[in-house]
Amino acid sequence: MNATEMSSLLRFVANKMIASEPELTRLDMAVGDGDHGVGMQRGFTAVEKLLSQAPGQAEDIGVLLTRVGTELMSSMGGASGAIFGTLFRAGGKSLTGETVLTTPLLTRFLSSGLDAVCKRGGAKPGDKTMVDALAAAAAASQSLGSEPLYAALPKIARAAGQGAEGTKQMVAAFGRAKALGERSIGHPDPGAVSMSLILSFMAEGIK
Ligand code: ADP
Ligand code: MG
Ligand code: MG
Repeated sequence: MNATEMSSLLRFVANKMIASEPELTRLDMAVGDGDHGVGMQRGFTAVEKLLSQAPGQAEDIGVLLTRVGTELMSSMGGASGAIFGTLFRAGGKSLTGETVLTTPLLTRFLSSGLDAVCKRGGAKPGDKTMVDALAAAAAASQSLGSEPLYAALPKIARAAGQGAEGTKQMVAAFGRAKALGERSIGHPDPGAVSMSLILSFMAEGIK
């Protein structure tokens, strides 16, 4: 996948994330303050606008992903603006100079993004955050070696979905859900669901 193809895939993902606002709002109402859906909607609206203004201009997929991260960070606000912005910025930086996305490069993006998110937010796997979905995705991607991206992405998305599903059993250690303590059990973490949705929509939209 080159930068032009990636830009159109990211626009597809952005539109699907915008349409997921009601689901994400409902999830954050259960364990947080209810603003996650609107935050992601705002962030991905800004991303879709950015990509529609500069279609295929970048040839560097690292630069493209880094720009997406900067856009998310500056438009979303909240914990998740910093967290998802950091994922795309750090993951994107690790791909600087690359022009074609492959499964090994997606592994590099996910692992570098995961490291940066953990450093920035202090969460570890098991703390009931998006890290649980991201860590599962990074591990799955790593295990697939250099399998073609179109075949690997559905498996990576499925692993992220299982990571998000696993947050239902966890007690939140971060964010507003922490105040709920054991009452957060049974509900998935909204950011983990967002992480798994982003990868599912990539798997759905890849050509
Ligand atoms: P806010 O918590 O500021 O209202 P959102 O509701 O948009 O922001 O996002 C909440 C999501 O952000 C959580 O579901 C969680 O996945 C993620 N999150 C919050 N804090 C952290 C953190 N320290 N590390 C990783 N992810 C986090
Ligand atoms: Mg919230
Ligand atoms: Mg909030």
